[in-house]
Amino acid sequence: MPEQIEDFTDEIKNGKNARSVTCKFCSSIILQPATADISNFEFDLPLMSQRKDTHVIETEKVSQFWTVDNIYTFYNVGFSNTVDNKKYLICGDCEAGPVGYHDVETKKSHVALIRILHK
Ligand SMILES: [Zn+2]
Repeated sequence: MPEQIEDFTDEIKNGKNARSVTCKFCSSIILQPATADISNFEFDLPLMSQRKDTHVIETEKVSQFWTVDNIYTFYNVGFSNTVDNKKYLICGDCEAGPVGYHDVETKKSHVALIRILHK
């Protein structure tokens, strides 16, 4: 899938999230304002909805993330099982996801900007 291009410039203040980061589906707060750092790198994140007729995991390239060093920074979040030293992040309330991933080795978590809302 082609990368989704969205301009998030207004959401970044001094390198951090200007507003709250919330779930797209239930509006549950994931991160409070100014708690995560913007980071830019490419990662193939599994799509939020997968086709039912195949076991192949479909992904899309994501390149902007809110990064936190400590999982206790999250206001509310859920984790998937560990796969290849990563846990996928899901909404703590409605379990929609993945909205990003947690790297077990670096202990950093990355929330994809295109998978969440800013409120
Ligand atoms: Zn939710």
